[in-house]
Amino acid sequence: MLGLMMDRPLLISQLIAFGARYQGETEIVTRTIEGPIHRYTIAEAHERSMRLANALERLGIKLGDRVATLAWNTYRHFELYFGISGLGAVCHTLNPRLFAGQLDYIINHAADRLIFSDTSFAPILENLTDKLGKVEAIVFLCDRENMPQTTLPNVLCYEELLAGEDPSFDWPDFDERTASSLCYTSGTTGEPKGALYSHRSTMLHTFAVCAAESFGLSSSEVFLPVVPMFHANAWGIPYGCAMTGTKLVMPGARMEGDMIFELLDKEDVTFAAGVPTVWLMLLDEMKKQGRKPHALKSMLVGGSAVPRAMIADFEGKFGIDVFHAWGMTEMSPIGTNGRLMRTMQNQPEEKRWDAKAKQGRAIFAVEMKIVDEKGERLPEDGVVFGELLVRGPWIASGYYNNKKASEAAFDKEGWFRTGDVATIDTDGIMQIVDRSKDVIKSGGEWISSIDLENAAMGHPQVAQAAVIGIAHPKWDERPLLIVVPEGGKQPGKEDIVEFLKDKIAKWWLPDDVQFVDELPLTATGKVSKLDLRKKFEDYKLPTA
Ligand code: ADP
Repeated sequence: MLGLMMDRPLLISQLIAFGARYQGETEIVTRTIEGPIHRYTIAEAHERSMRLANALERLGIKLGDRVATLAWNTYRHFELYFGISGLGAVCHTLNPRLFAGQLDYIINHAADRLIFSDTSFAPILENLTDKLGKVEAIVFLCDRENMPQTTLPNVLCYEELLAGEDPSFDWPDFDERTASSLCYTSGTTGEPKGALYSHRSTMLHTFAVCAAESFGLSSSEVFLPVVPMFHANAWGIPYGCAMTGTKLVMPGARMEGDMIFELLDKEDVTFAAGVPTVWLMLLDEMKKQGRKPHALKSMLVGGSAVPRAMIADFEGKFGIDVFHAWGMTEMSPIGTNGRLMRTMQNQPEEKRWDAKAKQGRAIFAVEMKIVDEKGERLPEDGVVFGELLVRGPWIASGYYNNKKASEAAFDKEGWFRTGDVATIDTDGIMQIVDRSKDVIKSGGEWISSIDLENAAMGHPQVAQAAVIGIAHPKWDERPLLIVVPEGGKQPGKEDIVEFLKDKIAKWWLPDDVQFVDELPLTATGKVSKLDLRKKFEDYKLPTA
């Protein structure tokens, strides 16, 4: 027997319409690409999204058409999220940090009809002029005065486009399973693959991340996502802010420690989200200034593991609650959250920080399992580790137009292979041991590069650390520790290895330590192990 309840579709346009109606005064503040701070309300954002939807319709955009964005976190990008998806078209966020070849591949694979681009990315598009076959126009996100000088054909001005349109629009109803947005993985292995979100998956994900036990968004918070809107929908935060009336502060193109600090401080930001490399810059700035941005209480960190030493610094020195979220593009992207349960909150700080270095519990509706090479489930005892698989209503069921990748991504029961290696303990707390391609295989056993890096970062003269496996004639692979020293310091190799001795198993100790000025980053701001492996391609271990 079916229930007798209304079958109203869950649609992204409802978020902004609701936000405008019930918390219309909520502010959205942007450090613009042009420079000045821009501020307006969500009611104004709604009106401009409706103008945009009218403009898209006039340009012939229909249900299911792909419309791309190439943009930083700004109010205009926020409008695009709602205007494009609200109409029933697919908002395809392009990552400007990808190589030209990858962008070319993605734009053509998705068959984007329009690209809405920040002016600063004009050179990227000019480089691709010959490759933009199906793209009918480039719309620059600025007014007439700030339009770039460009050789690109068919260029439009965003503000002019909106100015000519009606400020009201009846958001259409359609099947909630309709595609809403498209985001390609950064393709560190092979071609980028498209995760195609639906209205339903996005809305369910939004409910889940807003819940107090996950991000806990509410109109009492002021949120700054440093995580870019071109990276897995900025972890769903723009949608969540619209749903809850959370003031949203957008950093535009300026991610430097001092610029982020200033924005956090001036806009009374209480809560911020980003990858660890960004928070390292902020931590440096806070140490320099000897204070935290005045209202900042919580920091959400994801994308890669937060070193325990960083958690200890933020909390111990500045009283900021740092917690993990783990997920991936294919998961919309949130799968777990590392907020501590009440029983853990009263533990001594050392214990709390140990617990916070883990990726946390699944958020409601996400299921996790760990399996061995044969796909058999492994015990969840916090010790045994294996490949992590997930399923849930906001997890991809295949890749966009990519049969081969889709076939490889799931097990027999339809669970998605994350490519991560993890433990799960009796309380259901998951800890990432490594990405399966980064784990170091030494003498038939595995060494977690993350654990090793974590331990090394605890050394007072180590600013950043990365560990890669180097071929070894006897052990298959052995760990090489690569260190960026703390400003002006020159730690000794032996001193670092000595420091690690009581923190990790003896056979995990790195065979060598190398020093570098900086670590290469991926398009999503993580340390690029791929580039490190290339850099140390010809390097031979002293033990080999
Ligand atoms: P990309 O593949 O482009 O880096 P994703 O965001 O999809 O972008 O990356 C997902 C991967 O990032 C996960 O599979 C995992 O390896 C890593 N990751 C994400 N969040 C965390 C976290 N909190 N701790 C450790 N690793 C994480």
